[in-house]
Amino acid sequence: MTPLPILDSHLPPVRVMALHALAYCPRLFYLEEVEEIRVADARVFAGRELHAGLAADEEGEALSLELASEVLGLVGKVDCIRRRDGTYIPYEHKRGKPARDANGAAEAWPSDRLQVVAYAVLLEEAHGQTIPEGRVRYHAANVTVRVPIDAAAREELQQALTTARRLRESVERPPIAANERLCTHCSLAPVCLPEEVRHLHDPGHQATRLFPPEREGTTLHVVSQGTQVGRCADTLAVRPREGPESHHPLNAVDAVVLHGYVQISTQALRACVDYEVPVHWLSMSGHHMASLTSTAGQVQRRIRQYQALCDEATCLRLARALVLAKVEGQHRYLLRASRGEDGVRELVQRSLDGMQEALRGAGQATERASLRGHEGSAAVHYFEGLRNLFGERVPAEFRWTERNRRPPRDRFNAILSFGYGLLHTGVMRAILAVGLEPAFGFFHTPRSAAYPLVLDLMELFRVPLWDLVVLGSLNRSQWDPEADFEVTKAKVWLSDTGRKKAIGLFESRLEETWKHPVVNYSLSYARTLELEARLLEKEWTGEPGLFAQARLR
Ligand code: SF4
Repeated sequence: MTPLPILDSHLPPVRVMALHALAYCPRLFYLEEVEEIRVADARVFAGRELHAGLAADEEGEALSLELASEVLGLVGKVDCIRRRDGTYIPYEHKRGKPARDANGAAEAWPSDRLQVVAYAVLLEEAHGQTIPEGRVRYHAANVTVRVPIDAAAREELQQALTTARRLRESVERPPIAANERLCTHCSLAPVCLPEEVRHLHDPGHQATRLFPPEREGTTLHVVSQGTQVGRCADTLAVRPREGPESHHPLNAVDAVVLHGYVQISTQALRACVDYEVPVHWLSMSGHHMASLTSTAGQVQRRIRQYQALCDEATCLRLARALVLAKVEGQHRYLLRASRGEDGVRELVQRSLDGMQEALRGAGQATERASLRGHEGSAAVHYFEGLRNLFGERVPAEFRWTERNRRPPRDRFNAILSFGYGLLHTGVMRAILAVGLEPAFGFFHTPRSAAYPLVLDLMELFRVPLWDLVVLGSLNRSQWDPEADFEVTKAKVWLSDTGRKKAIGLFESRLEETWKHPVVNYSLSYARTLELEARLLEKEWTGEPGLFAQARLR
């Protein structure tokens, strides 16, 4: 066996658990160790429980022992060490069942084998004696498998360490695993999206949904002015000026949105950071002011984003895909909403024609400035058409003449702007969850006061997540022109009740599921925001072609 090289002491040591990931799938190692993405799913928690429940049952047995070697550049915590006939033996405990050889005999899985070999070699260095074997205990089958620490095992460990160090220096994600079954048991499948990549390479491949269909918590909106939010044990305590206090378990909240003049304590903010719950501040009119989230450990992802979005050709390609998706979505909506309505189709036909014209122009645009022009022209036609979609029962107060904002000057624009603020927050949350930099986009200009990447992604969702919700609610007479608004000469804002109504409509829409026409599986709109942000990141991580391909049905 070739001796292991002496390592640069500034390099962090390789974790034995990381070698386990490497043997399972090099991409998993890369995502966890280089990109620092770690997801604790139910299997991970069950494994931690198993290890927490281990108890020493023999004299001289050591549990959870930290081992480290500067020479090897390796650290790890072995589950258990026992002494047999004067020799130490490292044990690893696993929840599942062992692999089987051709004769049906139990054997260790390659990743488990590598892990126990690494502990044995660390133990040799610590105690200065040869360790002849390690053992892996598979609890589901009540079987212990012996792993010989021979020359082949040591060679395998050395090769794994060399590969691990090479991957840590690389800026490219390794390809997805060839064995699809590995992915179904992988905690990082929702980040890695292997099935979506298989579908990209083979459109006939029916993607299995490994992406979670629904969000894991609910968003806590605090709307009433003067409310105080504090921490009480593992809950957020919401104390309005009037009315009862309410408590919200932190592990059931996926974000906190504070509207207008709401107070939040330092302790509550700290708890949100600990539980990875982002906090967003919105103005009274729904304008996004700021977000708080922990963004440590996202350096690689951000470097790649900067590099990709400094390239004009990449930005143009993404911007074209975005504009085509947005305008086609608007066009389909006007077409669908005016179908079968007496005289309405005639009224919106001019808008539809104008949008078709803009689509043709966008398809041929060779620079982002002209794409912005076509997108702007399509928007004018779209809002013209939208005005004609009001049913007869919609009161005159909601009929509007033009899109206006900052501040909105009529009720319809007040609802529209407030909802876009909620959408901005939802998209911001998705972008931060993926680990992208919201200030660095590809379509909106960097001069924009809002975050350009958030504005970019929002374009895909304005129609399905808010425009059609607003039109539907107005046509169903869900809005009260007096109680739901605060009207002054200069502006129209939603009142407290109006804001609660808008939030209710928006959050219900996020909960709705639909079948994503590209990846071909069902998921909620809330999760679609995150999926699209992940598909965007794939545009510069070697798997382009899936971003902004979905269309409203
Ligand atoms: S999902 Fe599959 S390809 Fe992706 S890291 Fe996990 S095992 Fe590897």
